[in-house]
Amino acid sequence: VAAEDACGVPDTFGGFVRGKELGRGAFAVVYACERKSDAAKFAAKAVDLRQLRLFVNVGREVKKLRREASVLQQLPPHPNLVKFVDVIQEGHWLFFLLELVDRGNLLQAIVRRPPGRTGRLKFRESEACHVFRQLVDGLKVLHSKGIVHRDLKLENVLVVRERSVGPDLLLDVKIADFGLSKVVGEGVSEARSTVGSPRYMAPEVIAKGSHDFRADLWSLGVLAHVLLDGRFPCDGASAKVPQERLDEAIGRLPVGRDAQDVVRGLLQLEPPRRLTILQLCGHPWLTGGGRGSTDKR
Ligand code: ADP
Ligand code: MG
Repeated sequence: VAAEDACGVPDTFGGFVRGKELGRGAFAVVYACERKSDAAKFAAKAVDLRQLRLFVNVGREVKKLRREASVLQQLPPHPNLVKFVDVIQEGHWLFFLLELVDRGNLLQAIVRRPPGRTGRLKFRESEACHVFRQLVDGLKVLHSKGIVHRDLKLENVLVVRERSVGPDLLLDVKIADFGLSKVVGEGVSEARSTVGSPRYMAPEVIAKGSHDFRADLWSLGVLAHVLLDGRFPCDGASAKVPQERLDEAIGRLPVGRDAQDVVRGLLQLEPPRRLTILQLCGHPWLTGGGRGSTDKR
């Protein structure tokens, strides 16, 4: 019998040795791991198939997961997307092998950012713009391949590096946790909805559970607000307040007009009114790099 940790996750799987825990989410624990043959390092997201059995037919589910995984494996490499490497089954555990991004997630990065540098706010406008533009770039590729993220939030953005450029402390980031939630998430949707964060959910997702590309754009709007203000647009789910209240909150953002315009364009309760990803890419806030604003921070 192979050795295992407190959760019962085996110490080795395929040709890999499991290392320390990197984080956990609704249905998975993520570990660092090393390939025995060449000591190359990866992250491995472990999913307990027995947990899925509560909800679904596991054989069918694993087949679906593998199909979904092959879509992810074929994604072209992109600097703002965590690379999906492989899927390995070991007993009743599934390991999704991922590129290792070991500087934590964006929530942790914000929490540990030096206080006082920019007052209450954690990011200067140009720093927020730098992160936001990378999220847009990554999301554009996902959407162009037919993948809806469904769970964009600070915890699902990983930090590659932090570097000083003039007065800015810039974070290079990658989007994580995409593609698999569609399949695994269906099996654990009940469990997931109780732990997932409704604060990022689009109104149509809360109302009908319908997830299309535009739901990701809403979440992106919530993220932009958090980056620019250090706070959510309102208490609880932004999707549950009237448009006028959202617009008021956005109008109070301590940023330039272009940045406000982006947040307002994304936080539209009605999906057809939201900015599209292509409109975002061409928006002056992104093409101008968050400069030319009222940024005195
Ligand atoms: P879940 O689907 O359960 O939310 P995630 O994929 O979001 O799982 O991973 C949970 C946490 O594990 C992340 O917030 C992050 O801190 C860490 N993590 C996930 N993927 C990686 C990775 N490739 N490299 C390093 N850490 C990761
Ligand atoms: Mg996650």
